[in-house]
Amino acid sequence: MSADHVAEAGPSSVDCPVCGHPGMRWLPHSWSLVDVAFCTKCSVCVQRGAIPAPGAVLGRYRRGEYWRSHSRMGLSLEKGLLVWREGAAVRRLEEVEVMLGRPVPPSAVVLEVGCGPGELLSLLRRERMCQVWGLEPSPREAYLAQSMHGIRVVSADGSSLPYRCTFNLILAFHVLEHVSDPVGVIRELLGLLSSDGQLVLECPNISSPTGRMPLVQFFEPAHIWTFSHSALERIVYLASGVVARSSDSGFIRMLVNKASSDDHQSSFERDDNALVSEHGEAVWKRLDQYATSYRWSWIRVWWAWSRFVVGIRILMLLTGNMLGVVGKR
Ligand SMILES: [Zn+2]
Repeated sequence: MSADHVAEAGPSSVDCPVCGHPGMRWLPHSWSLVDVAFCTKCSVCVQRGAIPAPGAVLGRYRRGEYWRSHSRMGLSLEKGLLVWREGAAVRRLEEVEVMLGRPVPPSAVVLEVGCGPGELLSLLRRERMCQVWGLEPSPREAYLAQSMHGIRVVSADGSSLPYRCTFNLILAFHVLEHVSDPVGVIRELLGLLSSDGQLVLECPNISSPTGRMPLVQFFEPAHIWTFSHSALERIVYLASGVVARSSDSGFIRMLVNKASSDDHQSSFERDDNALVSEHGEAVWKRLDQYATSYRWSWIRVWWAWSRFVVGIRILMLLTGNMLGVVGKR
């Protein structure tokens, strides 16, 4: 599956790349600043253009706003600003263990794709005695993970995955919406699992737009895809995975096992039944209601955001002048 054919043709002339439903619909530009096609059956959204060249997991990642090769902020200031993420890592570990239905086993070998500065991996190593590995497209985030937590992080574009070990647990939080080929990425990650290994995914949910922000921010240009629960289940099936447990209140979360040929077939039947409900029109109506309720909220968001940006700039300027660390690691 690829989004390329959506990129080349109008959405009304192509089948949905996930469920095969004929005809897609563009989101209005009041909802998304970039062209996004919407499937009226499975509700998946895929962006026109911005499709990177095929490659391994990192090569499929579109360099969006999260990608940084360096920072103009001093390293000590940057590390200080990351302290708040420690609490977020504790909550994320709780979410992972709810999905697993048990604590992460001691000495499990764990890979986190899109590990950022590595706070979750650091917590897993400290609290669960796991062996941890990170994969992170942004060189700056990878550097922070290595320098702050001593975590082995791979950060290189377009190369095949360099791992010789297999993993008991792979985590991919808010990764799949950034890659052009989610089926290929899931398949590649399932191939890195041990026989009883499991993959935990989390993505934004089109049925539950992120709270308190207008749709133009929810459908941000860095997101190539926006999934519904059934579309993501279908994508997992196409990648030869089986959804063992899932939740779609708020974000979509899935615990995925490698499929045997038997349970692959039963997953297909269940998945097809799920798609028969054709919830696309209901999701569209909900998005429309959401957009109406936030018609004027962009002024409030813009005002809050501009105050935040100006504050950060002043802080960087003052800190850089005082410590002489601007532009240095
Ligand atoms: Zn579809």
